[in-house]
Amino acid sequence: MSDIIRRDPRAEWIARNRLHPLHAAMQPAQHSWMGPNGVIRKNPHGIGFIGPNGIKRIDRSGAQQGGSAKRSAAVEVQLPLHQVPAPAFYICVVPDMVGGRLSSHDKDLLGLAHQLAGKDGAVLAVVFGEHKESAFATAGVDRLLVLEGDEFSGYAPEQRVQGLRAVDNQFSPRHWLLPDSRSGGGELGRRFAAALGERPATRVWQVKDQECIGRAGAGLQDLARPVARLILAAVECAEPVSETRHEALPMELSTAVARSLSRIEDLGAVAVDPAAIPMAEAEFIFSGGNGVKDWDLFHQAAAALGATEGASRVAVDDGFMARDRQVGASGTWVTARVYVAVGISGAIQHLQGIGACDKVVAINLDPGCDMIKRADLSVIGESAEILRALIDAVAAYRNDAKRDAA
Ligand SMILES: Cc1cc2nc3c(=O)[nH]c(=O)nc-3n(C[C@H](O)[C@H](O)[C@H](O)COP(=O)(O)OP(=O)(O)OC[C@H]3O[C@@H](n4cnc5c(N)ncnc54)[C@H](O)[C@@H]3O)c2cc1C
Repeated sequence: MSDIIRRDPRAEWIARNRLHPLHAAMQPAQHSWMGPNGVIRKNPHGIGFIGPNGIKRIDRSGAQQGGSAKRSAAVEVQLPLHQVPAPAFYICVVPDMVGGRLSSHDKDLLGLAHQLAGKDGAVLAVVFGEHKESAFATAGVDRLLVLEGDEFSGYAPEQRVQGLRAVDNQFSPRHWLLPDSRSGGGELGRRFAAALGERPATRVWQVKDQECIGRAGAGLQDLARPVARLILAAVECAEPVSETRHEALPMELSTAVARSLSRIEDLGAVAVDPAAIPMAEAEFIFSGGNGVKDWDLFHQAAAALGATEGASRVAVDDGFMARDRQVGASGTWVTARVYVAVGISGAIQHLQGIGACDKVVAINLDPGCDMIKRADLSVIGESAEILRALIDAVAAYRNDAKRDAA
């Protein structure tokens, strides 16, 4: 048995997300606290826990009473190993691997794949080129096939379709799952469907009772149809795998992948002005609030990082930022992969706007503010000092990179 301590990112996310229906259940029970007049108050009902048969139990070792207030959602979990020695069939998943890692959308898809695989099937992930992911096993990958080669790197949808066709010929998967995303899966999935001559189910958000339900009619209607072989699924189409560990056994193709006629030439990434990226589409947002005391420094830091600027409503109302930069309930709802909040307290209207952000970094003086509770990484301190240190760190990093390249 492994004694590795594993975090549960989903539980941590729910514990931070006050709008989630399970939020209350994920909060550490608070058994004693300082009352307004300085007297320690205790909640006698908070001690103990509900056992598996529904009966309340009290842990008399003292560990629960003494340690629970500091308990975090990071729990020690011995994840059982799910093995499929001889798969009866495969469910193939083609993750987007944005930045070389599984995105939360990819993980939702792996969860859906396990729903379709049941006990007898194996989930086979097909990944193109180099990756930086080390958690395929806990994300639910039973078999991993990495299609290596320069021909698959960059924007190469035609060559990737050839790769998927080779996988299809060898493994004849029962279902193909791709994220219906702008990052690649949406286009690749449709091209692959055309190559196979199959009609894919698109924008699927639920697969249930042998039906898949997808968004249609400009997102206003649901379209139910029998489960298709090729499914392009939306974000949150299923719960990601969190209770099992998987083998992620490496697989190989037995035949070489046919070369496609390269009718598309990838000229590489083009630098864009981060300020010109619409807030709703920005991947990296650097947002300032009432705690920013030096706005020139804030703009310098955003430029050094190459991030799109955002703001809280107070910063906008005070005239430091344009109205179209406001993030939140009455501004823009953003979906950045990284959201840095500088001097923003985390009012509910602001948190609503960043609910879909992947990683949140908070810079704030107040360690108890709601933005720090929501953040994945917090830096406690004076914003100007931290911004200066950040600009220096970025400059040092760039210089090192230049020196290494020379
Ligand atoms: C109907 C309605 C709609 C709203 N919609 C939005 C919306 O869309 N978006 C939005 O943002 N707000 C919205 N608000 C306003 C919202 O309720 C908050 O007032 C606002 O988000 C607070 O902005 P803030 O966090 O920048 O400022 P504050 O609440 O003043 O917080 C400033 C933070 O900066 C920290 N700080 C102070 N000095 C420093 C320093 N030197 N260094 C580091 N940290 C420092 C403080 O600890 C504090 O946490 C709405 C309100 C209403 C009523």
